[in-house]
Amino acid sequence: MAPSPALRSTVALLATTFAVAGTSAADSASPFVQRLADSVRIQTISHQDPAQFDREPFEEFLSFLRKNYPATFRTLSIEHVNEFSLLMIWRGRDEALEPVLFEGHYDVVPIEPGTEQDWTFPPFSGALANGYLWGRGSVDDKGAVIGLFETIETLIGEGFAPARTLYFSIGHDEEIGGHEGSGRIAQLLEERGVRLAYMIGEGGGMMVGHPLLPDRLLAMIALAEKTFVTLTLTARGEGGHSSIPPDDNSLVKLAKAVAEVHDHPFSPQIVHPVDAMFSTIGQEVDGFTGWLLRNQGLSAGMLARQMAQDRMGAPFVRTTTAVTIFEAGIKENVVPQTAEAKINFRLLPGTTMEEVVERVREIVDNPEIDIHAEQWGDNPPVARMDGEGYRRISEAVEAAIPDALVVPGIIVGTTDTRHFAGLTRDLYRFHPTFWLQMDDGVGVHGTDEKILIEGLERVPALYRELMTRVAAR
Ligand SMILES: [Zn+2]
Repeated sequence: MAPSPALRSTVALLATTFAVAGTSAADSASPFVQRLADSVRIQTISHQDPAQFDREPFEEFLSFLRKNYPATFRTLSIEHVNEFSLLMIWRGRDEALEPVLFEGHYDVVPIEPGTEQDWTFPPFSGALANGYLWGRGSVDDKGAVIGLFETIETLIGEGFAPARTLYFSIGHDEEIGGHEGSGRIAQLLEERGVRLAYMIGEGGGMMVGHPLLPDRLLAMIALAEKTFVTLTLTARGEGGHSSIPPDDNSLVKLAKAVAEVHDHPFSPQIVHPVDAMFSTIGQEVDGFTGWLLRNQGLSAGMLARQMAQDRMGAPFVRTTTAVTIFEAGIKENVVPQTAEAKINFRLLPGTTMEEVVERVREIVDNPEIDIHAEQWGDNPPVARMDGEGYRRISEAVEAAIPDALVVPGIIVGTTDTRHFAGLTRDLYRFHPTFWLQMDDGVGVHGTDEKILIEGLERVPALYRELMTRVAAR
């Protein structure tokens, strides 16, 4: 969903205001913001190729935590998992209450080579300027890790003790799948027979300037994420010398098949929890759009088609199709015998991998094309809106950020939360530090990742409400 002109001008106005007021941002920022900035400067990069892993910044990050949060390390039981991830337990007084798990990760994605110069401030500067904290990891996801530690440390200092046991999973490899970190932590907990009431992980957060409701601050609690499925299409043909070319060309067959799949997107539809997201937002939207959002019994088809026309809106109303890899041919004068393509699908809740394969088979309609499917883990069910976790997160938001509207939602990417699917029925995705300015300038995984300091300053109060309410009986 593209930002409206009104939103763009609001953002521009904010940016100028901060540019004027922001000269002394570094001095006036709270200790929480300062520490988050310090943590951004530690280059905990996850590389796709394990050989490129540099352990030093990860060790540095862990000593940074130990140094800044001594009471946390004294009070909680803390276990290193695969060296760099932390499983932390804050024992509650009441053993009868099922524990709750908070999740966050401190690894970040690399800076795309050649784009370093495009950053307004160097990518790991942790600069506090123009109203923003700048740098890789400032949004995704060091804020959550630092936010959790700050809150625990503060609460211990005040003599707070939880009634309910709290678990914390601090991952070090989320950006490359999370198998060594969160994945292993979840496995350990399963082996120990732990059962969680619910978990609160990465995905949702605070949103400024949502295209449907640009003037409201939204607190989006994501109840689900889309399922990640990749299909590999393989075509075989005769092959041979290009001077006497065969008719049966693997590459051409594959190209036709891939084009067909691309040209036949899944039809748009509104499924849960997108229906709940739209109707909640619709309560606050005027005019025809508001009516459409509130009256899905009548408008669902029209609404889905309208959303599907927009590149940013479409992922919320359809299982998406993206052709991502094409591999064929080794030499310009040789017709290849095999050609392979990968197509990445993100499935709406309720759609299965088998259905995607079936549909692609029909579209391709060529038995000579081999189709192989792979899914990233089991996708957990949609978390309950009437569950205790949703209620406590909502109450925390209402207490700490009364100007925000709590909205259920879905995320179109994937996070580490899915690893915990075996431990609980309800996985909520909500990080108070994900304070997103929804213009195109957020820069998560891209250039100029940055977060609004004004938002960050409200985070400690929200985290405090969240943790104390979750820890209560
Ligand atoms: Zn992340």
